[in-house]
Amino acid sequence: MAELIPDPNEVLAWAELVMAQLAPDRPYALWVESDDPYAGYRIWLDLDGNASGVAFVSPEPPVEALARLADQLQQHVMETTQGRPAPACPGHQHPAVADVVKGTAVWRCMNSPSRVVRPIT
Ligand SMILES: [Zn+2]
Repeated sequence: MAELIPDPNEVLAWAELVMAQLAPDRPYALWVESDDPYAGYRIWLDLDGNASGVAFVSPEPPVEALARLADQLQQHVMETTQGRPAPACPGHQHPAVADVVKGTAVWRCMNSPSRVVRPIT
């Protein structure tokens, strides 16, 4: 089966789940924007008045799309929190990083690729 650009409604639902992990105590808005649905779209995150978009314009496996989305949302959240780790890596001072491990999108330790903190969704 050919890969597709991930469905925007599904990606928006992922973004809501990721933001509930990254910034549960902060007001934010998420939405989809597209000039031409056949050419892809952006998921926009507005956090305290600072908006940042994640582009979905190429076919990609869903787990790769989810990990990329989580990574981009995490970057935007951490840019506005003076680098406070989100999500925290248990027992460490750094944040967990989004990655695909054994076919699943996960937060893992940045120093140890095999140390999975938890699945992203
Ligand atoms: Zn760690």
